[in-house]
Amino acid sequence: MISEEEARTKILEQAHVRPSRLVPLLQALDCFAARDYFARLPLPNFDNSAMDGYAVVANSCARGKRLRVVGEQPAGLDRQLRVCDGEAVRIFTGAPLPTGADAVVMQEDVTREGEEILLNVDVDLGEFVRRRGCDLGEGQKILVAGERIRAATLALLASQGFGEITVGGEVKASIISTGDELVKFGEQLKPGQIYESNSILLRALLQKCRAIVESVQSCRDDDDSLGQALRLDIKNDVLIINGGVSVGEHDLVQAALRALGAEIDIWRVAIKPGKPFLFGRIGECAVFGLPGNPVSAFVTFLQFVRPAISKMMGATDLDLPKVPAKLLVDLRNDGERPHYIRGKLEDGSFTPVGRQESHALFGLSQSNALLSLAIGESQKRGAIVDVLTWD
Ligand code: AMP
Ligand code: MG
Repeated sequence: MISEEEARTKILEQAHVRPSRLVPLLQALDCFAARDYFARLPLPNFDNSAMDGYAVVANSCARGKRLRVVGEQPAGLDRQLRVCDGEAVRIFTGAPLPTGADAVVMQEDVTREGEEILLNVDVDLGEFVRRRGCDLGEGQKILVAGERIRAATLALLASQGFGEITVGGEVKASIISTGDELVKFGEQLKPGQIYESNSILLRALLQKCRAIVESVQSCRDDDDSLGQALRLDIKNDVLIINGGVSVGEHDLVQAALRALGAEIDIWRVAIKPGKPFLFGRIGECAVFGLPGNPVSAFVTFLQFVRPAISKMMGATDLDLPKVPAKLLVDLRNDGERPHYIRGKLEDGSFTPVGRQESHALFGLSQSNALLSLAIGESQKRGAIVDVLTWD
């Protein structure tokens, strides 16, 4: 049995970065930039008005003064107007500032009287003017290779005239769930059977990682159906086999993988839940054998599969977000493996929820954070601990 850190290191060594590709901006959401990007344009790109109002020369203005309106500057077309002392140009939000203007008075702060305005306020230099480059300078780095592309990143790229972006490569994944006891939804449950629920969990988790789920198969605990299912799926980048990786007579996955020529790099990791975890390779396909218990499958996916996929897709930050939280109960790990406690992170506090056993799906469904307790570690109520989040 190896430690979680060793397992992670070995897996990441074997996770090869996929070739990058150029995609339309919208398709890049939640992908990772494959190179650095720099501003082509400053933001704003020209001095402009932050308000609907009047462009003026600030030091010729004072409350009670009248100014002559000498023109109108809408957004979208620079009329190249000029403003002198004692004058004003009617202006709208986003419109280019006329030459000579150094402030904008809000329309709410003036009284319009024919071709004049009466100022109802004093005017400060620079007021309601958005200066060229004040937000972003030309040539400034706007995106770093490996960074996740979020909605606002897309907006920033669009503001620079980019219609496409080079992102990390796609990862194609497949799932095989194993077990004679498993029944698909819609079918009648016979005594001793359960509804198969892990493939949807894993599929959803893969989708959240932006992996492409190419196939989902269910197979029985026999060598033939396992071999058949495996042969179909090893053409993908990632194969997740769920269940059958433990030590029982019906746990046939490891032998079936070896029969196909797989190299098994890892079997059994010191992590609770998730000890029977397996990792190997068949050709270019990274094979993850996740334990069948739902919580074990969930935790090992987050700790081992997710970072591998992220690396393949070109991410630099492979960790789950870590959040400091105040612990609301005493906790102690007397076991022989680091224990991932499922709990609820709410208003900065963490409370364990549900049964802390690897089959306890309800508790998992109520949780939104994991607290890892090292072997022998104890934490008192009120302690500040780091918890991992995924939602
Ligand atoms: P295994 O890892 O195959 O020994 O399975 C461990 C436990 O997880 C057993 O109680 C199985 O019934 C359950 N299990 C295995 N696969 C699934 C699945 N796909 N959906 C729900 N439960 C499962
Ligand atoms: Mg099984």
